[in-house]
Amino acid sequence: MDASARLRNIPSVDQVLKTAPAAAAIECFGRSAVANAVRAILSDIRDKVRQGQDIPSRDEVASAALSKLDAVDRSTMRPLFNLTGTVLHTNLGRAVLADAAIDAATVAMREAVALEFDLEGGIRGERDDHLRALICELTGAEDATVVNNNAAAVLLVLNSLASGREVIVSRGELIEIGGAFRMPDIMERSGVRLVEVGTTNRTHARDYGGAIGPDSGVILKVHTSNYRIEGFTKEVGARELSAIAHDKGVPLVNDLGSGTLVDLTRFGLAHEPTVREAIAEGADVVTFSGDKLLGGPQAGFIVGRRTFIETINKNPMKRALRVDKMRLAALEATLKLYRDPDRLTKRLPTLRWLTRSQVDIGAQARRLLPVVEHALNAFFHVSVVSCESQIGSGALPLSAVPSIGLALTPVDGRGRLLSDLAAALRRLPMPVIGRVERGSLVLDLRCLEDEEGFMANFTGLDLALGGGSDESS
Ligand SMILES: *Cc1c(COP(=O)(O)O)cnc(C)c1O
Repeated sequence: MDASARLRNIPSVDQVLKTAPAAAAIECFGRSAVANAVRAILSDIRDKVRQGQDIPSRDEVASAALSKLDAVDRSTMRPLFNLTGTVLHTNLGRAVLADAAIDAATVAMREAVALEFDLEGGIRGERDDHLRALICELTGAEDATVVNNNAAAVLLVLNSLASGREVIVSRGELIEIGGAFRMPDIMERSGVRLVEVGTTNRTHARDYGGAIGPDSGVILKVHTSNYRIEGFTKEVGARELSAIAHDKGVPLVNDLGSGTLVDLTRFGLAHEPTVREAIAEGADVVTFSGDKLLGGPQAGFIVGRRTFIETINKNPMKRALRVDKMRLAALEATLKLYRDPDRLTKRLPTLRWLTRSQVDIGAQARRLLPVVEHALNAFFHVSVVSCESQIGSGALPLSAVPSIGLALTPVDGRGRLLSDLAAALRRLPMPVIGRVERGSLVLDLRCLEDEEGFMANFTGLDLALGGGSDESS
């Protein structure tokens, strides 16, 4: 048969759409999407048939269209197992929310809610009213508001209190948090003039004192979240700095970054400054994140003296940075959990995971070992190892939390196998993300709760290690 005769035997779009697999696809994705997919596949087939390939059946074409649509439809923001050992991993979405927060956000999504509506008076209410009292109760602050994230909080606070004026900050605190947030850049964009004082490792009270003048709008203290200067260092503490600031009538703003609402030492973790401490030390305004140690959705809290919060709320920029009803609902539910600190480690995933004992994680590792070993099919040696988890997101950068993991090591120490394995784990229905450490892929089990789901998922592992040979490496 010549090529043009063969081409005439290729099924038409209509014929393919009448098949059972096409009907199933239409049920899922709608008629026009399926028709378009079928058309694209048929066009490919025409090219291949010209080159001598066989003509597929109508059902085969329809099934190919269904797979194509399935692949496109799959969300790129897939849920995954975070076994990196970093509990608050910015690239993996930071805090996982408490059930109470998820339920509250779901209700807010599904229903109309009294977001800016005072149910008692039947008059217009304020978005901030839902959280204000709760935040003040938990932090000892006079007033509070909330915006999109902590970077926005810093931007808004500086713009509101010191636009066109000077903001004094120590050279030791001009930090960068991830590529996109550099303190000097945020300050510039907030319309203030940055006045650096001291040196990288030492800043004295007299440095601040000497810099304060008639044009000073704010003294800014920044918690150097993600690094620490050690050795010959000097920093002016918040209490002393607040005395210097207030003596000259300049407000002190303390950006805590992560901050926390509870003293973490009660859970056996290292001390991270609490918001209540920062307020008690005399800061006029304190800013902190919602999705770091606090364990809620992304948000930036601004708490402190009423007069400053009122000024901040009047800034038109506030409107551009406000949070929506879903997040307000989730934040309120998360904050309420802090009224009962004893049960926080049960209810709040971030603290539940950070406080998991090595004994508990170790027992889990031994339960999982045979399953993982079996799925790896003798290409890798699997062992239970001690490792160190990180809190992440700049909180307590130097304090590792002792943990337990499974170390997956290529039997012949062949390096390429390791990246093949990492890729195969990322291809699982629920991708598994570990970290490479000294020639092994380590799965830190600190954040693993759904053990059965993990095992069922892991048995689907398709190593596809280049046909089992990797002679090239
Ligand atoms: C993380 C952090 C920020 C930014 O907070 P986001 O909530 O990520 O916007 C700002 N300042 C400090 C000190 C931080 O640690």
